[in-house]
Amino acid sequence: MAVRQLPLEQPFKGAAERERALEQVRRTAARCRACPLWEIGTQTVFGVGPATARLVLIGEAPGYQEDQQGMPFVGPAGKLLDEALAEAGLSRPGVYITNIVKHRPWVPGGAHGKNRPPRQSEITACRPWLAQELAIVRPRIIGCLGALAAREILGKGFRLTEQRGQWFEAEAAPHVLATIHPSYVLIQPHESHDRLRAHLFSDLRRIAERYRQVAAEEAASGVLSAEC
Ligand code: SF4
Repeated sequence: MAVRQLPLEQPFKGAAERERALEQVRRTAARCRACPLWEIGTQTVFGVGPATARLVLIGEAPGYQEDQQGMPFVGPAGKLLDEALAEAGLSRPGVYITNIVKHRPWVPGGAHGKNRPPRQSEITACRPWLAQELAIVRPRIIGCLGALAAREILGKGFRLTEQRGQWFEAEAAPHVLATIHPSYVLIQPHESHDRLRAHLFSDLRRIAERYRQVAAEEAASGVLSAEC
């Protein structure tokens, strides 16, 4: 089942109310015990960014640095994402960034353990947090980073290798594009690294272009959103 924006019983009246609602969900998620990942994680890594962001980027799960710092995309993958955002002309503080799973999935090994992909049961258990984030932020555009995030938003039939970089309409947002997860680019051998990095960067440029179109439409209709 794809994640969608939850219907609201009462629409939020303004930005401050949405920020308060998001903070309330963040505090509740900090105590989540809905799957076993909380036992091996340092903390819940909730999304960051404005509650009025037009653009939400959704990754997979926190890694070591994110687990330590309690913020999404602050490790090496985050640095690559920052580069791609900057190159596309998007400001990270104007984007809401989150993951489909809020605790770090990992197995013992090396100095800090090894990241592993989240299991379907963990993704399902964590889904209500993402659904609530989307219900409050109500993004116009979602960028999915990696196949797992894309399947959460666009459905199980989504194939990243064939459908990367294309626009879709989903229940979660009217404009959805999926691209390669930055951490996948970082683990590529030399032969494929540059090609996949170029895909990631060009997809972020496509998102930025759509962002500017949507912003122009909103400006014309007087809608309130965070500037990016
Ligand atoms: S990963 Fe998600 S569902 Fe599992 S304990 Fe953490 S916040 Fe809860």
